[in-house]
Amino acid sequence: MSSTHGGRPPAVDKALAWPGVQALIDCHGRNLVLDALRAGLQQWREGHIGDEQTLVAEVQASIEQVLAPAFKPVFNLTGTVIHTNLGRAPLPPEAINAIAAVASGASNLEYDLHSGQRGDRDAHVEDWICRLTGAEAATVVNNNAAAVLLVLNALALRREVIVSRGELIEIGGSFRLPDIMARAGCKLHEVGSTNRTHGHDYADAISSRTALLLKAHTSNYVVQGFTRSLSEAELATIAHQHDLPLVVDLGSGSLIDMQRLGLPFEPVVREVLAQGVDVVTFSGDKLLGGPQAGIIAGRADLISRIRKSPLKRALRCDKLTLAALSAVLRLYANPDTLAQRIPALRLLSRSQTDIEQTVAALLTPLTSWAGDPIAVDACEVLSQIGSGSQPLDRLPSAALRLRSQHTNKRARSRQLRELARQLRQLPVPVIGRIADDSLLLDCRCVEEPQALATQWLNHRFNAEPLA
Ligand SMILES: *Cc1c(COP(=O)(O)O)cnc(C)c1O
Repeated sequence: MSSTHGGRPPAVDKALAWPGVQALIDCHGRNLVLDALRAGLQQWREGHIGDEQTLVAEVQASIEQVLAPAFKPVFNLTGTVIHTNLGRAPLPPEAINAIAAVASGASNLEYDLHSGQRGDRDAHVEDWICRLTGAEAATVVNNNAAAVLLVLNALALRREVIVSRGELIEIGGSFRLPDIMARAGCKLHEVGSTNRTHGHDYADAISSRTALLLKAHTSNYVVQGFTRSLSEAELATIAHQHDLPLVVDLGSGSLIDMQRLGLPFEPVVREVLAQGVDVVTFSGDKLLGGPQAGIIAGRADLISRIRKSPLKRALRCDKLTLAALSAVLRLYANPDTLAQRIPALRLLSRSQTDIEQTVAALLTPLTSWAGDPIAVDACEVLSQIGSGSQPLDRLPSAALRLRSQHTNKRARSRQLRELARQLRQLPVPVIGRIADDSLLLDCRCVEEPQALATQWLNHRFNAEPLA
């Protein structure tokens, strides 16, 4: 690049004394300003900057960039409602208020206000989990992967765990049941085949080394065709005949019947426990609609052993999670209002007509953002629940569709990727998905289109960005 200004830059000490730089130091501290100033002086040396005013403006801009939050809200227009990479379940206001109430000061996190003695942090959620699931006892850890690890470690250390080959699951992000089992210090005893496992497979595998039977909900895939797996009730019978516990990893674990909301069937925790299952584990931020957490519920004697494990201490939840979870559980007191009050359930049960209205409201703002070279229209799409829930079931939804007018397929594809990129660069990034030669923006998760509309009206797609 050509040099617009000649000359050597000022010495660092001299530039530090400039009033503009001093004002930045007062505001942001010396370290940050010094780093930015050195970078600015380097640009001066290379000929891109040549005067005090430009240098100060450059230093200020670079400090603002460093200080801008990197972790921020986005618009989830991917069509996957409980999207692990986008933070899973949105929290209801009750949970956010509960977090705020305990975040800034002391609380009775592990303090019994009645006796004045040390208390247990599980006390804030255990009664509600039991009430909603019928379990005798419950405990909570950081996430469901931690819950599985803890249960296996506490109940089956150095012993065998029997699992069907059809359930050796891998959840995204390197959660593989055989690996978790090894880390938990137990030995995996696989039985049956990928598609068929019978009762005698389990019974034959049981020995004096067996600690428990494990069933994992195959949440992100389906084994179809010539298949056989045992129900929880059948497995519980076999386990109990041998005086062993049956543990079920439910994954999503719904507290209510999803079909009542017009959604695909998902196992209900209470019904699973009622079939004789001794311990279940499930996530707090999947279908439950709460914060990231792993809930362990079941027989009191087993929960007590799990709670005493040193791993429980390492995997426990913080006060913010417990505050949010306890607020969300209380919303389940009234099942009739859940579909409205729990955002994840509200979004999942939104009607296509309602989503179409959001799409209609956003069509003009998006057309204005995209400009002439891009064709924008509305179309029908299918959303997904996400996080492994019912992978084959789709929810009828509506989307904004952007298409490139190029005749060349590669040029179209490049332009779609550029559209997606510039949507991600907006102040509140917009995340869509590219499919069928279009960029689709599924509006299921947009409940208040105004902020999105304003953002599109205030910015423009740059069809020919600088290389
Ligand atoms: C999602 C899932 C997990 C992991 O739960 P996290 O809350 O993501 O840690 C474990 N098992 C099953 C069956 C799951 O679906």
